[in-house]
Amino acid sequence: MSFRATVLTLYPEMFPGPLDLSLAGRARAAGIWSLETVQIRDFAQDRHRSVDDTPAGGGAGMVMRADVLARAIDRAAAPGDERPRLLMSPRGRPLTQARVRALAAGTGALIVCGRFEGVDQRVIEARDLEEVSIGDYVLSGGEPAALVLLDAVVRLLPGVMGNETSGTEESFEGGLLEHPHYTRPPLFEGRPIPDVLTSGNHRRIAEWRRQEAERLTAERRPDLWAAYTKGETEQ
Ligand code: SAH
Repeated sequence: MSFRATVLTLYPEMFPGPLDLSLAGRARAAGIWSLETVQIRDFAQDRHRSVDDTPAGGGAGMVMRADVLARAIDRAAAPGDERPRLLMSPRGRPLTQARVRALAAGTGALIVCGRFEGVDQRVIEARDLEEVSIGDYVLSGGEPAALVLLDAVVRLLPGVMGNETSGTEESFEGGLLEHPHYTRPPLFEGRPIPDVLTSGNHRRIAEWRRQEAERLTAERRPDLWAAYTKGETEQ
């Protein structure tokens, strides 16, 4: 069963974009996932094909209209379509590896990309959109956020990553950031590879990697570290 992504956007030209290269591109060519875009403007009904209007209550910028977006969503998701409906939004719950993994285990996703100041609150409620943020900063549109989300999901789909274990040992999967990596040459600008990694002692290597992962997490991500030490890591 292949993962089906439908992206609603005012800029369908931005897709598949980077997702047509490398891992994700090969996976799409192999039919592991599919991508469909829906031009929201096609669902505007006035002469000017407008999709936005001034905010109720006044203020700067424009707001995406609820009626136009609702028509686009209703066309993109047939009755009985069980895929999660996501709205990329800086107000959303921050995306986590756990949410990415859950999405990758499903049949697909419908992803709405906002523009302007955002979308009319009533369509979020009426079409049960789950707001998802990719971080505490503001983009000019939801498209790059949708590309980020899809990149993270697609690499976890069965058959996408060559080495199946590399998806389970990396940052966030065990509640920790990943340990540092080294490869050839053995000496780079006077810096050697840590001895333990060339010792051939797999128990000591695993122990060193765990210690490094813990040290980095404690240093850089007190939030993850607190959850990890309390045993509250979201899995
Ligand atoms: N006025 C809004 C920002 C709108 S940015 C606010 O202050 O909350 C325009 C669009 O870009 C949003 O509708 C959303 O779809 C997208 N966007 C911006 N930042 C984002 C982020 N951090 N994560 C996900 N989507 C984002």
